[in-house]
Amino acid sequence: GALLAHMMVDPIGLILRWYDELQIAQVSLARLVGVREIEPDAGDAAVRPQGRDVRAEQVRFGYREGVDVLHQVSVAVPPGTRVALVGPSGAGKSTLGRLLAGIYAPRTGEVTLGGAQLSRMPAERVREHVALVNQEHHVFTGSLRDNLRLARAHAEDAELWAALGAVDADGWARALGDGLDTQVGSGGTALTPAQAQQVALARLVLADPHTLVLDEATSLLDPRAARHLERSLARVLDGRTVIAIAHRLHTAHDADVIAVVEAGRISELGSHDELVAAGGAYAALWRSWHG
Ligand code: ADP
Ligand code: MG
Repeated sequence: GALLAHMMVDPIGLILRWYDELQIAQVSLARLVGVREIEPDAGDAAVRPQGRDVRAEQVRFGYREGVDVLHQVSVAVPPGTRVALVGPSGAGKSTLGRLLAGIYAPRTGEVTLGGAQLSRMPAERVREHVALVNQEHHVFTGSLRDNLRLARAHAEDAELWAALGAVDADGWARALGDGLDTQVGSGGTALTPAQAQQVALARLVLADPHTLVLDEATSLLDPRAARHLERSLARVLDGRTVIAIAHRLHTAHDADVIAVVEAGRISELGSHDELVAAGGAYAALWRSWHG
């Protein structure tokens, strides 16, 4: 849902059109629309990022009034850095990811990109710079072309093929009966979960944001498909700032900085080696993953 809200050129219009088909009764329309839920007409065209660093400063956020999920969280992510968020389930990792991607606005404090508050920028501008990637709702009813053009409305077929090629999806896509015209999603050709995720990655290539918030899910894929997708993903991540909500050992291990999120706070911040040496929560997590 968040990816959808994030990537679309006209989120509200498109969601209204798709809402019935998506059968996402458990997800409110407001939540899909993200930041707009908080300030429907937010966004000042004069607010522009003056750089690529992402920062949360003293961020407090909750889904319901009076119930805070994040408490005074601060973190700075320099351009090109890879940050891994780790910690127990329910700690607030995904929520922090959504704030860093501009899906939600903090109740107090700021999330900034290049010094400009995400919640003050037009949503379209935020999406040019930052994308949230998760494993929800990757393919919608429509042609493969429609699905890819969510990322760039006027992209030409050659660009769409190049994006599919960049994520190693052009092989199976060319084998589809009607190529880019093939109807996919409910009522059309069913794509495998791995193919659906490659479509989402191809959208990222088209949108070309410099910063990605990656909410890893525990993989539903078979090992071979997972490895294939991993390679595609690695290519997409290359050269970008990545904030990854990590459920896997190597995502954390390979990050420049690991932030441990516990009960809505960042409790530890450092490199893998530093945090293992510190012998705290990350060290315990590493031991449990490792063993
Ligand atoms: P994590 O990703 O670390 O598992 P989350 O950010 O998903 O943690 O959740 C943090 C807290 O916020 C949990 O108590 C969770 O139940 C709550 N929460 C998460 N998403 C929503 C939502 N969309 N609406 C209401 N509460 C939510
Ligand atoms: Mg999560």
